[in-house]
Amino acid sequence: MPYVNTLDLVREAEKHGYAVPAINIVDPLTITAIVAQADEIGSPVILQTSVKTVKSAGAEILYTAAREAADRARVGVALHLDHCPDRSVITLCIEKGWSSVLFDASDRDLETARRETAEVVEEAHAAGVTVESEIENILGVEDGVGSDSATHAYTVEQLIEVARETGTDMLAPALGTAHGQYTSDPVLVPGRVKEIKDQFDIPVVLHGGTGLTDEQFHEFIDMGVSKINISTALKHAYMKSALSYLKECEASDKWEPVKLFAEIEAASKSVIREFAEIFRSAGQAGSR
Ligand SMILES: [Zn+2]
Repeated sequence: MPYVNTLDLVREAEKHGYAVPAINIVDPLTITAIVAQADEIGSPVILQTSVKTVKSAGAEILYTAAREAADRARVGVALHLDHCPDRSVITLCIEKGWSSVLFDASDRDLETARRETAEVVEEAHAAGVTVESEIENILGVEDGVGSDSATHAYTVEQLIEVARETGTDMLAPALGTAHGQYTSDPVLVPGRVKEIKDQFDIPVVLHGGTGLTDEQFHEFIDMGVSKINISTALKHAYMKSALSYLKECEASDKWEPVKLFAEIEAASKSVIREFAEIFRSAGQAGSR
């Protein structure tokens, strides 16, 4: 099962008590590396693109790379648009063939968020695309999207009412996590996941995963989280592996781009390996 629907992947994860790693890739190199490693360890995987990445690499190239990598894999691979408040980019990714989109309406007031989310759901579902909805803002700024203060916060009842009304497929509530690197210990609210799931059967997504302990991840998964987003960890692995190789190049005055790609590839692979182990997704789709 190569290129799949995101909702199918997370529903399968819910059934078996694990979470699907959703890794923010940045280019075709990281797409190929993440999928090859996920395939080797038998973990389903969601490749995520930020709006910034779509604009930098181009939707066509990202989609083609994801499809090619998925076609070679035995594990389920989905392509997801992360945090997107821009309706034109949502439409672009739906048309290009993304498996799912996160319509981020957390910068809108509740009524506008409700109306626009319903419109996005209608547009996406007509193309068989899954919708993740976010109307509360998750703290932190990620690739230029978001805010450092909680501007929109709602009750669980309000969240469920909007999800029900709009027909959204997955929910990204505020759970105490933040995007980027933690400067102080976050106040996590895993109990909120259970509160949602007890009242409404909708897959819940955890954002801002980089920096949590294994125990914290397990608590969220046990409460019912089935998709966990990892962005910062891959950025660090990518840039730090490049930096350390470039220092070697400088010292030896030998400059080899292909070797640089190999270093980045290896570092990216270690990210999916680590998180698939923690999220218990490794081996769920059969390993080679
Ligand atoms: Zn996020």
